Amino acid sequence: MQQLKPVDVVIAGGGFVGLTLAKEIASRTPLSVVVLERGKPRKLADYATGMDELDYSLRYRMMQNLSEETATHRHSARASAVPIRQYGSFNPGTGVGGAAEHWGGISYRFYPEQFRLAAFLREKYGSRLAENLAVQDWGFSYEDLEPYYWRGEQLIGVGGRAGNLQGKRVDGGNVFEGARSHEYPNPPHKMTYAATMFEKASRDLGYHPYPVPTATLSRNYTNPDGVSRAACAYCGYCTRYGCMIGAKAQPTNVLMPVLEKRKNFTLRTGCNVRRVLHRDGKAEGLSYFDAAGEEIHQPASIVILASWTLNNSRLLLMSKLGEPYDPATGKGTVGRNLTHQVSQATRVFFDKPLNSFMGAGGLGVGISDFDGKEGLDAYPGVMRGGNVRMMSSGDGPIASFGLIPPGEAESDWGAEFKKAALAWHDRAASITTEAEHLAYRQNYLDLDPTYTDKYGDPLTRMTLDWTEHERAQGGMLTKIHAQLAKAMNARAAAPNSRQLERYTVTQYQSTHVNGGAIMGTSPEHSVVNPWLQHWQSPNLWVVGASAFPQNGSGNPTLTILAITLRAADALIDHYIKNPGALA
Ligand SMILES: Cc1cc2nc3c(=O)[nH]c(=O)nc-3n(C[C@H](O)[C@H](O)[C@H](O)COP(=O)(O)OP(=O)(O)OC[C@H]3O[C@@H](n4cnc5c(N)ncnc54)[C@H](O)[C@@H]3O)c2cc1C
Ligand code: SF4
Repeated sequence: MQQLKPVDVVIAGGGFVGLTLAKEIASRTPLSVVVLERGKPRKLADYATGMDELDYSLRYRMMQNLSEETATHRHSARASAVPIRQYGSFNPGTGVGGAAEHWGGISYRFYPEQFRLAAFLREKYGSRLAENLAVQDWGFSYEDLEPYYWRGEQLIGVGGRAGNLQGKRVDGGNVFEGARSHEYPNPPHKMTYAATMFEKASRDLGYHPYPVPTATLSRNYTNPDGVSRAACAYCGYCTRYGCMIGAKAQPTNVLMPVLEKRKNFTLRTGCNVRRVLHRDGKAEGLSYFDAAGEEIHQPASIVILASWTLNNSRLLLMSKLGEPYDPATGKGTVGRNLTHQVSQATRVFFDKPLNSFMGAGGLGVGISDFDGKEGLDAYPGVMRGGNVRMMSSGDGPIASFGLIPPGEAESDWGAEFKKAALAWHDRAASITTEAEHLAYRQNYLDLDPTYTDKYGDPLTRMTLDWTEHERAQGGMLTKIHAQLAKAMNARAAAPNSRQLERYTVTQYQSTHVNGGAIMGTSPEHSVVNPWLQHWQSPNLWVVGASAFPQNGSGNPTLTILAITLRAADALIDHYIKNPGALA
């Protein structure tokens, strides 16, 4: 075991969260900052050599190697868990930039009442709330977070149209969103044929369509750090790929240009963090295996976990920091409130070609008339809704071939199928939905007692299943899908409702996994305080969607960035000047 010289700050994980914190600390203070990233280095030029759909999108070139490390899953505490051996319901990232190198760029804010959801639901439903509901308030308000949302939007250059500017509703934006202090830094994208049809159909039905906000740049843009990026070329090789011209905001093109100039910043790749070193309630550094397999201790005055939802909880559990959550008693905090995203899709078919090879990860039109608290009166079983969207993310030639309306061919092979596949080529799109996932007592994370990773350490075990509420949310939103498909004169396939019968790890449903090290106002019910500082170890910070008490409907990364920037301010402006608990 090798013991290194102490540094001021050590960060586990070089994704959006880890590198944003590093950028803030290294550029605003003289402190030495080391980021330990388990994967390989990456740069813009890596993506210019070939965007191969088979390699990147279908064989998951940029994702974590599941044969070395994965998670296990079971539906309930009574069941046995088995390892997730193939990429399915979520795609964990690895390497510099993490999953935000190959994300789609969709950049929503959460609704104001999300941040006080427990209080909001109690006020609305009182004693009718199910006993197993575990939603919690975040410990701050939307108004507290708004300046950080705005900073995050400027950092990554989000394009969109405000629907609520300083309290004034603006038609053409999302009129249901919380008040914004500013218009988006960039205008929305040019829209595709499919998105335009969706917009018209939504308006005809009396809904309120808006361009989906996205960090795939709609024009050339220079952010407040002076980092310039080019406008999107609508190449469509976007989600699951790195952008070859840097138009999609990625940690390598937004944060690394600043960090590379800082002498007090060091990025060490190939470093797999195993434990938080701690004594008497104080974090003392991180222990990791380097690429050669040697165990190394990196002492530090401030320790930050930024290794994504599942890994943040796992590192706490493996380090024996905090009390593991026990669903039987409701006691303990580490692992509680595991949530994912309630996703549904309905395939729709048009009689004209859509040119769907063009697009961008975040290009699309959405409605939020059944999102958050809106439009639920006709659906008494639904407490929180979701958005409905038509995205034009760019369809690859392999995955998009063979999409035919129901009844066009008897099987998915043979001459009849091939004829139908050619006739319907480029005529398919999807209406999709992402809805809020509430937290329940029975859904949680712990360490698997059986399965281990390549180092012999226990895998994270996910205990997670859907409830009647998620099925009711799916039922409501797919009815809206059918209504919109009809208004667009499209033929619709049956929605993939089976996905919500039981939680399945085999079908992709977003990489928006949350909880496990949640924030809150009391150490009895949360791992970190509202500044994302560990309740028991004030020099340890646990940052990312692991801190979400439950999930919102919009894609989470902008909210992750906003809470990260808020934590950075607390650390730099308060903790460093006067080390100690901030709450
Ligand atoms: C295909 C896809 C599309 C997506 N599209 C969107 C979208 O459109 N909008 C949106 O809001 N979100 C989207 N997301 C989600 C988004 O990518 C994540 O929310 C975001 O990347 C989270 O950032 P993070 O830094 O917390 O975690 P990550 O990006 O996962 O970064 C964590 C880093 O920590 C490293 N790490 C983990 N464990 C260790 C360890 N033990 N030691 C050292 N390093 C470690 C990992 O290698 C990784 O680099 C998408 C995700 C995927 C996969
Ligand atoms: S669609 Fe635009 S943002 Fe996405 S990879 Fe292509 S050029 Fe980059």
